[in-house]
Amino acid sequence: MISPSNAESIRRAAALIREGKLVAFPTETVYGLGANALDAQAVEKIFRVKGRPSTSPLIVHVASHQAARGLAAVWPESALKLSYRFWPGPLTLVLPKRDCIPAVVTAGLPTVGLRVPVNPVALALLAEAGVPIAAPSANRFSELSPTTAEHVRHSLGAEIDLILDGGPTEVGIESTVVSLAGPVPLLLRPGMISEAQIADVIGEIRVAQAPAQGPHSSPGMHAKHYSPRTPLFLTLPPSGRGACLWLSHEAPAAKSIRMPADPAHYAALLYQILHTLDGEGFDWIAVELPPDSAEWTGVRDRLRRAAAI
Ligand code: AMP
Ligand code: MG
Repeated sequence: MISPSNAESIRRAAALIREGKLVAFPTETVYGLGANALDAQAVEKIFRVKGRPSTSPLIVHVASHQAARGLAAVWPESALKLSYRFWPGPLTLVLPKRDCIPAVVTAGLPTVGLRVPVNPVALALLAEAGVPIAAPSANRFSELSPTTAEHVRHSLGAEIDLILDGGPTEVGIESTVVSLAGPVPLLLRPGMISEAQIADVIGEIRVAQAPAQGPHSSPGMHAKHYSPRTPLFLTLPPSGRGACLWLSHEAPAAKSIRMPADPAHYAALLYQILHTLDGEGFDWIAVELPPDSAEWTGVRDRLRRAAAI
């Protein structure tokens, strides 16, 4: 059921979380499918409902810096600096975990991904629940992430106890993920907080390469991810009826959509547009890849994975 995010529905959502149920809620990036991160059985339901492999760790959302520090075994200076600069906001920090976090949350890894979101509904829910909330995106595994409550209802509505409606999400693509668990900070997933912005705060950062085979430390590293059902191409297919998302060159297509030239606006609209086009029965969606420059890295990453076959 979709509920507007008023005080009453936030209280109900928090009570459901404490009872071990699942609640979908808005964050500034995408809608999350949340469960009490300290309750292994509740978290197992997230994996079942999404069809997510148990090898994909979940991000744990908390209401404050203090709550985050309570879940990490160590809090290095890099974590202190990055959290002060970017929290609340779309940055996930991966750190050695404390024992209170069940193994199912972290896919058996000794580390945990932590984030304080800035979305007011997410923060109100976290404060009211009084427990950390593990939440991946509220969609079936490898599909497009939801950016509205209606997207969640369409994909998982029958299986979730409550969907809190906070309107369309603002950032529109998933958080930047940085691991601080090793000797050198590692960018695991690009996002709207860029590698350069992170390097500005902590100096050196390396970019993780996805392993060709074997387990991934991160679901965002699967070559194919974040995909609409309609095949997505980064070049124009020779035949069929399609839609085109363009920046500089309009292409012949049944439907042609000019995308914003600014990366933040582009990201905010991208999944919303792909969800809509998915319902229109096109043979393909062709997307003009934005320029290869730092501020577009997150968007280019998602488009590449959406297009992977
Ligand atoms: P999502 O499915 O969008 O919630 O993605 C979760 C993201 O969190 C993945 O892309 C991982 O990079 C990251 N993540 C969460 N926990 C960990 C962890 N313990 N180690 C590495 N990456 C993690
Ligand atoms: Mg996801």
